[in-house]
Amino acid sequence: MNKLTVLIVEDDMPVRNLITTTLKAHDYKYLTAPNGAAAVLEASSYNPDVVLLDLGLPDVDGVEVIKKIRSWSNMPIIVISARSEDTDKIEALDAGADDYLTKPFSVEELLARLRVTQRRLAAAKSRPMEEAVFQNGRIRVDYAAGCAYLDDEQLHLTPIEYKLLCLLSQNVGKVLTHTFITQKIWGSSWDNDIASLRVFMATLRKKLEAAPGSPQYIQTHIGVGYRMIKLE
Ligand code: CA
Repeated sequence: MNKLTVLIVEDDMPVRNLITTTLKAHDYKYLTAPNGAAAVLEASSYNPDVVLLDLGLPDVDGVEVIKKIRSWSNMPIIVISARSEDTDKIEALDAGADDYLTKPFSVEELLARLRVTQRRLAAAKSRPMEEAVFQNGRIRVDYAAGCAYLDDEQLHLTPIEYKLLCLLSQNVGKVLTHTFITQKIWGSSWDNDIASLRVFMATLRKKLEAAPGSPQYIQTHIGVGYRMIKLE
């Protein structure tokens, strides 16, 4: 398989060494940057396939790095944050990051996130521009017709459930924050919108998932949001 080139942005030497050792052992190519300025420069000069970005950098806030990169590129960005920086993580996702890892993370978690990204990149490459029909496992969404199916059975979704399913499927593989989703669905993000979102997500899952208690398609990220998983 064609391995990705990963730009590692991390000022903490032991963490950076752990990541480079892991990537080397698994045949990934990599570049490193110890701060935000170097990160932006390397991202623009070498156009890596994915960026692993620590949010706590010595020169600028990691979120600023995301905004800069997003001004010219959609390259996947996985942020790395400490457990105490939950709000930073959410801000980073809202600024355009695709995924996150929380420190301390295991080598397996890191590799799993890279595999998710690789699948998403492969799917995006094989897709000719905007797709009219989305297929993921047993789920099919026909955007033009405004219908969704499980196998060949049409799903009876409420307008909000359908909008939610479209939003998740159009961003498959990406973690969407509560704020992002409620803004897209209701145009606001009050606490009661987030509470309603939980309710609609539960009813949507009942219709999609064989076992709503252990969902296969829609992952919950506690305190952060949701992600639709692209099945193999
Ligand atoms: Ca740091």
